[in-house]
Amino acid sequence: GSTIGILGGGQLGRMLSVAAARLGYRCHIFEPGAAPAADVAAQLTQAPYEDSAALEAFAKSVDVVTFEFENVPAEALDRIEALRPLRPNRRALAVSQDRLTEKEFLSGLGLRTAPYANVESAADLAAAVQSLGCPAILKTRRLGYDGKGQVRLTDPAQVPDAWAAMKDAPAVLEGFVGFSMEISVIAARGLSGEVACYDPGQNVHEAGILRTTTVPAPIPAALRADAVLLAGRILNALDYVGVLGVELFVTQGGLLVNEIAPRVHNSGHWTQNGCTVDQFEQHIRAIAGWPLGDGSRHADVTMENLIGTDMTRVPDLAATPGIALHLYGKADVREGRKMGHVNRITSATA
Ligand code: ATP
Ligand code: MG
Ligand code: MG
Repeated sequence: GSTIGILGGGQLGRMLSVAAARLGYRCHIFEPGAAPAADVAAQLTQAPYEDSAALEAFAKSVDVVTFEFENVPAEALDRIEALRPLRPNRRALAVSQDRLTEKEFLSGLGLRTAPYANVESAADLAAAVQSLGCPAILKTRRLGYDGKGQVRLTDPAQVPDAWAAMKDAPAVLEGFVGFSMEISVIAARGLSGEVACYDPGQNVHEAGILRTTTVPAPIPAALRADAVLLAGRILNALDYVGVLGVELFVTQGGLLVNEIAPRVHNSGHWTQNGCTVDQFEQHIRAIAGWPLGDGSRHADVTMENLIGTDMTRVPDLAATPGIALHLYGKADVREGRKMGHVNRITSATA
């Protein structure tokens, strides 16, 4: 049988492993972290990315390599790509690893983003605040997630403190977008170039962390079509294979792309209980060269993340009808840490 290699041992890798197992695959996970959760249906390697022998042994033990973690060092990807196909490809990862590259790529495709400026010094930031105005958000170009590595500016006087918070890391300043809603599209592209998209969901964030995703997003059909077409353009431009998450702002003037994630996405977890084929199986199908599956939606769903002490609600949730629980098996509860999620079926659609 075939074996799928996954870089990253978090909950996304764990759910990918479960989907892969259901399609008859084995998984081998590469996770340098201390306490990976991906112990389900998968074999695990715990070695740093700098351990080239371990990395090459991992690559040779699998037929195709994918990732659930975007910050894999470039040299590690070189070693892997020399041995096995990497799906999605290197460029898709490179483009989304850096917020500046990502925005330049999106703008180059003719898609709209928040107004932005590159910031590599306090002087750059002062100039960027001058041209973009306040309020604005300063974000590290790399390694940010769940709103980490971001500072909001409401006044130009905050420039020195905001720049100090970046700790000399290159950053981008983004003009604050007055959106009416946040939505996302989970899109997939197969090896032969076919594209499929899930119905867009509405996302609600709290303190920079995704709180809920609700499908269908309450948007007009024309906007839904725009969102899906735009995702298809991104996939084709990157010659992408696999599942991609596209986060969008809905504004009076139409859709703006916030960011893209070259992997299965938290805002796509509702598909586990709302679709015949969920985003995890869709990703495995794509990277394994299968036809894409049927992603049509058969229910209205609200996904809610269980963050930190939300875990105390699990006994109640477990006893509630119409709810599917998905827990990640993480040993320690920490504030702001994603511990699991629930999918609440709000109504079945014919
Ligand atoms: P993740 O990767 O976990 O989605 P992140 O750390 O990459 O998060 P962003 O998606 O950039 O962070 O921002 C988190 C949230 O902050 C957005 O979903 C949105 O609610 C808000 N936000 C980010 N940028 C802007 C902006 N330019 N204008 C208005 N709101 C913004
Ligand atoms: Mg992000
Ligand atoms: Mg985001």
